Amino acid sequence: MEKYDVAIIGGGSAGLAALKRLSTLGKQAILFEAGSKTGAKNISGGILYSKKPKKGKVYNVEDIYENFLQDAPFERKITKYILHATSKDKIFSIDLTAAHEYEANFGCSVLMNKLNQWFSQQAGEAAQKHGGGIITGVHVSAIRWEDGRTIIQTDELEEIEVKAIIAADGVNSEIAYMTGARQKFSPNELYQGVKVVAKLPEEIINQRFSIGQDEGAAHLFAGDVTLNHIGGGFLYTNRDTCHWELCTTWTRF
Ligand SMILES: Cc1cc2nc3c(=O)[nH]c(=O)nc-3n(C[C@H](O)[C@H](O)[C@H](O)COP(=O)(O)OP(=O)(O)OC[C@H]3O[C@@H](n4cnc5c(N)ncnc54)[C@H](O)[C@@H]3O)c2cc1C
Repeated sequence: MEKYDVAIIGGGSAGLAALKRLSTLGKQAILFEAGSKTGAKNISGGILYSKKPKKGKVYNVEDIYENFLQDAPFERKITKYILHATSKDKIFSIDLTAAHEYEANFGCSVLMNKLNQWFSQQAGEAAQKHGGGIITGVHVSAIRWEDGRTIIQTDELEEIEVKAIIAADGVNSEIAYMTGARQKFSPNELYQGVKVVAKLPEEIINQRFSIGQDEGAAHLFAGDVTLNHIGGGFLYTNRDTCHWELCTTWTRF
């Protein structure tokens, strides 16, 4: 039976960060991702924030991937945050840029699928140096504890023994559910989002949002935009695409 220090279940941004960090610490870590490639199943709005911690230590993206700001394929650094309160045919807009910048190092718009492939390359290379790596197209179906050993079962491979497991399989974690760490969600605890990414030439985005070449805008919508239901709308600028999203409670859809 193959053995590793740590198994990470899920190759989203959380799992890949865990793999990179563990490998930096010299651990032999293996990551299993159910999707055919990393990034295939990951969605975000999205803005990726680097926060200034109020206290203690926060591992921001640039702490995990030291070359993030120079090399990562993020879209634009967000330099303008506007909140729009909507009421029937009226709109009241507030510039929240200063509030956002107060506790943030930066926020950048990202296309998660593309960015996760970059995270995956960085984390995979670090893991390989310690005999670990990333295996895609593998779904972890069960975990069992036997004679003091932790064993992982997958639908595709032989069983694997590990010393520790990190469940990074997303908010609807199957692992947390099967191990009793979370209950089944009820429909009123769930939100549904609809997201559209539309292509627009870079110059048109700059012109329409009044931003420069290296700037980005985030517009947030509250109030009647969700027809009186809890939720909100988001509009973010990427390099040459725009991202629109509307979120509201699952039961309202
Ligand atoms: C529409 C939308 C907009 C969002 N906007 C933002 C935003 O603007 N900013 C932000 O920070 N966050 C945003 N989020 C949240 C964002 O999705 C999360 O921050 C991020 O994706 C969480 O990463 P993760 O690695 O925890 O999980 P995920 O990205 O969900 O990754 C989990 C991975 O685990 C894999 N997996 C699951 N089960 C198994 C299994 N049994 N075996 C093997 N692999 C498995 C899945 O295939 C998946 O790749 C948004 C989410 C949505 C849906």
